[in-house]
Amino acid sequence: MKPYEATVIHAEMFGKDKHDHDDTEICCDGCGIEYTLTDYRTLKENKKLVYFLYEDFLVCHGCLFDEIKRHIPLGGEVKLRVLDYDARYFLNFGEEGYNIEDELG
Ligand SMILES: [Zn+2]
Repeated sequence: MKPYEATVIHAEMFGKDKHDHDDTEICCDGCGIEYTLTDYRTLKENKKLVYFLYEDFLVCHGCLFDEIKRHIPLGGEVKLRVLDYDARYFLNFGEEGYNIEDELG
């Protein structure tokens, strides 16, 4: 089965020329959690929150993982391919949670 795919959102991807300042807010399309880019940068650095682009949605990691978990087959796993700039890795979701595997591994 083709893995699901999501792209990590970085605060610096929001070009300064397109937005007035760092207080531009980004919002999860799933749960509505909303932060300014400044706060997001801090949260992400501290591994508290990551937003992803998934299909056409901007979603927080909580909503993304919930969505992916709905596709776990009984006793099986689903793979999420994560694109993070030049890095690529898989998150394998099973009934016990998830683990990370790099693309070559
Ligand atoms: Zn969310």
